[in-house]
Amino acid sequence: MEIESLTGYQPPADALEGRVVLVTGAGAGIGRAVSVASAAHGATVVLMGRTQANLETVYDEIVSAGSPEPGIFVIDFERAGPDQYTQIFEALQATYGRLDGIVHNAGILGDRSPIEHYDVKTWHRVLHVNLTTPFLLTRTLMPLLRCSEDASIIFTSSGVGRVGKPFWGAYAVSKFGTESLMQVLASELEGSPNIRSNALNPGATRTAMRRQAYPGEDPDTLPSPDQIAPAYLYLLGPDSKGVNGRSFDAQ
Ligand code: NDP
Repeated sequence: MEIESLTGYQPPADALEGRVVLVTGAGAGIGRAVSVASAAHGATVVLMGRTQANLETVYDEIVSAGSPEPGIFVIDFERAGPDQYTQIFEALQATYGRLDGIVHNAGILGDRSPIEHYDVKTWHRVLHVNLTTPFLLTRTLMPLLRCSEDASIIFTSSGVGRVGKPFWGAYAVSKFGTESLMQVLASELEGSPNIRSNALNPGATRTAMRRQAYPGEDPDTLPSPDQIAPAYLYLLGPDSKGVNGRSFDAQ
């Protein structure tokens, strides 16, 4: 697998003007930063995530910056069933009529433990949130992406989604699966030049998940989510038109 770096990309101010972009896990960490940056570059962002208060804080931040008013959709991907996916589709269709981007970003770490002792329930939870949910959302929203002139689907990967390492368990497997989902979809989209599918590994970033994985690390040694957001804007915006089926590093 060839990995390309997006370090140093600077989006034009109007990169996402007029686009409607859905971000999962938008209430915290990287999802929050990508949502705020996307809105600041002209996008109407649909903030999707589990904790309403977090999403409302991001909503306020976007509105007070003078960016386009976002939408909010509260959903717990661990518990969501077919009815909720239908609701998402109907609400987005009625409000926007199309979708120009999805950032599959929500994720959970699960346990850091050997496969031999890995908790089975946690295994199912991690694979469901990190891998099955992007499949379900993409499948549900494909008709709205097909209504866009230039749509982009970003799957969030990880270094351990490309090389297996000890004790990363279900998280690593979910990220390998994510790369595979991205590639399968990208190959199916080869005849649909108005939709692209790519994977992006943010790299070590100062968030709650990173702290959970590396509790002894000094967070100040890591880039902030705001610093890596431009890589997401590259893949969402017109500069990456025609780029499909590729795997990128934000750092
Ligand atoms: P955070 O833990 O900071 O944020 C995760 C987000 O996902 C939160 O907004 C959280 O919602 C949401 N979420 C988690 N579970 C659910 C659920 N069941 N339903 C709906 N939303 C949910 O993580 P990061 O920002 O660090 O990670 C973002 C992505 O980047 C993940 O896919 C992660 O695997 C990946 N990544 C991160 C790296 C890093 O160093 N930080 C490195 C490599 C990859 P809530 O607001 O309720 O907490």
